[in-house]
This record gives sequence, C-alpha cells and structure tokens, in this order.
Amino acid sequence: MSPPRLRITVRGAVQGVGFRPFVWRLAHELGLSGHVRNEGGCVVIEAEGDRTSELWARLHREQPPAARVEAIGWESIPARDETGFIIETSGHGSAPAVVPDMATCADCLRDVLDPASRFHRYPFTNCTRCGPRYSIIERIPYDRATTTMAAFVMCVACRAEYENPADRRFHAQPTACAACGPRLSLCDAAGAAVEADDVIGVAVGALGDGKIVALKGLGGFQLLVDATNTGAIRRLRDLKRRPHKPLAVMVRDVDAACRWAHVNDIESALLQSPAAPIVLLKYRSGVLPDGIAPDLLEVGLMLPTTPLHHLLLRAVEFPVVCTSGNLSDEPICTDNAEAVARLGRIADLFVMHDRPIRRAVDDSVARVIDDAPQVLRLARGYAPLVLPMRGLPALATGAHVKNALAVCVGGRAILSQHIGDLENTLAIDAMRATARDLQDFFDIAPARVACDLHPDYASTHFAQDIGLPVTPVQHHVAHALACMAEHGLQRLLVVVWDGTGLGSDGTIWGGEFLLMHGARWQRAAHLQPFHLPGSDAAARDARRALAGLRGESVFNAPVCTSAGRLFDGFAALLDLCGAQTYEGQAAMRLEAAAAPGVDEAYDLPLVDGVLDWRSMLEAASVENVTGVAAAKFQNALVEGIVAVAREVGESTVALTGGCFQNRYLTERALRRLREEGFTPVIPRRVPPNDGGIALGQLAAVTGEGDVPRGPWTH
Ligand code: ZN
Ligand code: ZN
Ligand code: FE
Repeated sequence: MSPPRLRITVRGAVQGVGFRPFVWRLAHELGLSGHVRNEGGCVVIEAEGDRTSELWARLHREQPPAARVEAIGWESIPARDETGFIIETSGHGSAPAVVPDMATCADCLRDVLDPASRFHRYPFTNCTRCGPRYSIIERIPYDRATTTMAAFVMCVACRAEYENPADRRFHAQPTACAACGPRLSLCDAAGAAVEADDVIGVAVGALGDGKIVALKGLGGFQLLVDATNTGAIRRLRDLKRRPHKPLAVMVRDVDAACRWAHVNDIESALLQSPAAPIVLLKYRSGVLPDGIAPDLLEVGLMLPTTPLHHLLLRAVEFPVVCTSGNLSDEPICTDNAEAVARLGRIADLFVMHDRPIRRAVDDSVARVIDDAPQVLRLARGYAPLVLPMRGLPALATGAHVKNALAVCVGGRAILSQHIGDLENTLAIDAMRATARDLQDFFDIAPARVACDLHPDYASTHFAQDIGLPVTPVQHHVAHALACMAEHGLQRLLVVVWDGTGLGSDGTIWGGEFLLMHGARWQRAAHLQPFHLPGSDAAARDARRALAGLRGESVFNAPVCTSAGRLFDGFAALLDLCGAQTYEGQAAMRLEAAAAPGVDEAYDLPLVDGVLDWRSMLEAASVENVTGVAAAKFQNALVEGIVAVAREVGESTVALTGGCFQNRYLTERALRRLREEGFTPVIPRRVPPNDGGIALGQLAAVTGEGDVPRGPWTH
C-alpha cells in the first residue's frame, strides 16, 4: 500500500552530479508524478503514484556514480493529484552545490571514441556525471553563466541535450562540442603559436621524440614525458630541480596499470573512481624504468582524467610521466601566459586550450591501505572536502608544508585543495588568494582565525595579518582533532607522529601520544627527546638527525621528540640516506629497505610515558643485515605504540601524522593493535599529513562551546 505522496530528502554530495535527472528517469519509468529539486544542499523529491515504494527501494540501490549519499529520509504528505514529473530549477537561495571535478565517465569516453558520435575526438566532452566543476566555477549558484564556460554559446545540438531531462547532459553546465566549445592550441617554449590541424598528433610526436610537453589539464598544467625514456626523465628532473622525488605516471587503462604494478580490486576501483587520483601501487620488480621512483617500492599511477588525456594516452605506445606543472616547490600553473612564462624553460611544447581554469587544483594522491582508500593529497576530484562541523564562522590557515586552508560555515567544515609548501612568495600568494576565494565562494565572514602555534610559519603570519581574533592551535593536537572530526570521535588515544611541530612546552614535538576528550587533551606519552642539530636543516640531512640521536654536542640544537627525525637518524645509521632532496626521502628509503617476514623487534622500553629508543641505536648499529635492522626498528616502534595503548587503556586508538604515510608501520600497527583488542582508526578522507591540519585547527576553535579546551596538564 503506497502512501498518498512521499517527500524524500537525500543528503550528501548529491548536487551537480546528475542526481535530479537520475530521479527524473526513475520517476518516469515508474509512472510517478511530482517533482525533484535541490534544496539547501539536499535533493528533495516529492512523488505520488502506485509505485513510490519502488522508487524508495531503488534510491537505495542505484545512484549516479559521483553521488555520495549520506542520509536518506521520507515523510508522507497529502496527495496533490498532479500529472507529470518535473525537475524544478534551483532557486538562488539554495545552498551551494560544491562538487569536485570528475574524470571522464565511461559513457562520455564511448562518445569520444565513436566515429558516429558528434563528440568523436572532442577533448572537452563531459556530462552531468563527469567533467570540470570546482576548477571552473566562478561563484554559486552553479550555472553555465557562473563558470568559465560562460563565454561559449551552446550550439543547437548542445542546447537541445542541455534542456532535455531524459538526456545525460541535462543541465550539464560545461557541456560543449567541437562546433561550440573550447579548442586546443599549440605553442612553442617561447609562447609562439604553432599551427597544426592535429594538435594531439603533434604532442604525441613530441613525446615520442623524448620532448617535454606541458599540457593544460583539468585543474592546472602538467608536465609530460615518455615514462620509458630515461634520458627524457633525467632532463625533466634536472630542469624541474627535482632529483629524486617520485614522479607520477599516467597509463591508458587498468590493464596498463597492471603491467607495471600489482593492482587489487579496491585499487582498481580507486583508479577508475570519478576522483581518479594518483594511486600509490606496489610495482612489479624489474619493470619500472630508472628514475621514476628511485629506491622505493611503490609507484604513483593514474588513469586519464579528461578526453584530452584519453586521446593522448591512446595514441602513444608508452605510459607518460605526468607531474605538476611547476618548479619544485611552487604552485601549479593555470593560466596560459603564466604557464609559458614559468614553464618555458622546462617544456619544449605547450598543449593549451581556451577554457580558463578558475582555481588551481593539482592531481590528488591516494592509496589503498587496510582494504580502503586513504587520501594523501586532497586536490582534484576530492576538493573541496565538506564535513559536518558546528560552530562560528571561522578560517583556519593550516601548517607550513602541504598547506591547505579550511573554513567553517553553516554547520559544515570545508577543507580546501592542496596549496603547497609555503617556501616561496608564489606559494604564500596562492595561500592568500585561496583564503579570499574560500570566503567569497562560500560567502562567509569569519569571526575568528585559527593557525598553528608556531610563530614563524607564513600561515601564522597570514592569520595575524587578517585583523580578527587569532587562536593558535598546537600542531599535533590539530592532527588529532582533524582525524576525530572526520570520524566523529570524542574520546580516544591519538598517536601523532610526524616531522616537527612546536609543542606547548616550547620544545619541538613529533612523536606524540595524545589522550583526547573532545577538544581537551593530555600528552600521555612521547618519544625520548634528543637534540636536533641545525633544527630545520636537519630535515634536509639525515646525518644531522643521527648526530642528534648519538648525543653529539653541537650548537643550535633544540630539543625534539620527532618520530620523523628518528626515522631519518636510523636511515643514516643504516647508510640508507644522507642528504635528502625531498621531505620524507630517508624515511621512505628505510621503509623500502625493511626485509619482509622479520617479526622480531628491538627493545623499546616505556618508562614514565617516555619511549626510550637509545638501546635500539646500539642494537641496530651492530646488526649485520640492513633490511633486518630496518624491520626490527619499525617493529619496535609498533610495539611501542601497543605498549602506550595498553597503559592508557582507551579502546580506540587513532594513527595520524606524516609518519603514518609509511605503509609498513601503519599496517603493522593496525594489525598489532587489533590483536591486542584495540579498535584502531586512521584518517581516510582527510590527509594524515599536514594537509589535514587546517581541519583540526578549525575543530579546536569551533568545537562544542561548553567543553573547556586546552591541556589538562603538559
Ligand atoms: Zn560523462
Ligand atoms: Zn555544441
Ligand atoms: Fe605535522
């Protein structure tokens, strides 16, 4: 027996992903009358007819691929006896449809490859289930006129699809075709136009010749070279001033990914998801060309994200290195002229187009760990990330490296896309611009600003310049709160291990065990402190960390408890790394060096809340086999985590901070904590590294009003 009329409310990421046309098709199929509309961030359906219960059931089973339904509810309302089912257009009062960019869907790829389709070989084909979103939206409400597609007037055929609710391109704001949409163009390193009928063909030829091609992707320029040409890779590394940091590679499809790496079902789904991130995968031995991921076990692979990438990858015979279009630490280029100015020294050829990129969104990085995806760099496809969070409107300015910002408004926290390391003025300018953009886009006037406790971070200076009340938040507390905000956790032990962050006692922290109760916290345990010679310079040379661990007396050596520097020191001890050319290099080499199947661990005694690694230093220095030492060292750290968890006695234990990007450490800690009866959690949608800090800072200043904040004790 169906009720007279159902009002169904669907909550989650349901706007701008083709949800209304999807409901429209279902309603027509089931012969229902009524309407569907966007309302305050939800999709609201009113439907009547004999088969409304089928509609309810199918909404639970089926949904558009990019939709993410968080809650769905219904109520019964009086019948209206209408005929027909319509899509109501969005009112201007409706809440923002904030949707990340989406990789080309299977249907659009079919159109692009079909000689009979009017989208055949059109590099900007998209529909309601795929294509650019956040990277092209000027302001909300999301409409053609408020995107960078506004200047392109739809042709008759595109307009007809756009207005047809039965069509997949119904209200697909960026839809376009070769007759009416953006076009490719080519220019040389000096910015001079290169005439070509077949732009993609020229680019393919250049890649085949070992040239470096700068290509305007979805959220910014990328630099491409033939991933099997070691000379071309070396040249790219030299010009980009990036000697060792692993390079991401784009492959044409999952089969191609499987030739280079081990890909399980979850990893395959992640590669093919609408976000289409760079996925870190264990590569097959002996297949990876030199220079892609030196001395590591994993390689970052991604699939084509736009029809342009698909066409290119289908025309070349090789995988293609696909790295951000920037110099080492600078933000990614988005503007055509800017790209030539900044990348002209690196690229031999530019593949551009005339669809402007409104905001820079770099490629995301993710991996599968413990049978589920984890985002390591939140950008294209994932940003902006929206999570529930109550509190006053606020802005959080994040940390120093992997900077990202966050705002709180209307019961939601919004974490920005990855901005970068604040090591140069371009990056700092990008941070300031992103802060303005977030405030304009989400229409918020922050009442307060949260920043890191460190007084010298550029993000802290920026927070202080705004002229609003500023709340500094301890770095590792922010890491913990970010993980808690994502999972809705209140009381737990959080293991926060990273490089460095200023502690509330004025020393440098980084090997912390924080007992959290809401926004209140207590430092339950930490690593044995040591002097870190040269402070920040120590991060660039693992041998300095080793000197610190050995207690060699030096000037300018602040005290720290950094787990990251402990890894560095052991990597230097085992002769795995000296000078580091990118953050985490020594720790990554140590992880890669660990011999599989080693179950023993060095002693790591826990005395009065201090994990003392000093005897480990002796033991590791007399170990005969490097791989065994690397394994026993990391196993010991895992046993240290278990020991602290036992002593603290909270059932839930979270693992976060940059050190838990280490797969060996994280997987083993998860397993051992479960064996001991704990419930371990890790961040999934929020990066465990400093990319998630802003969210935690926000939680610290917007958290439940009556809970006293700050430490119980030091
Ligand atoms: Zn599509
Ligand atoms: Zn058209
Ligand atoms: Fe950190």
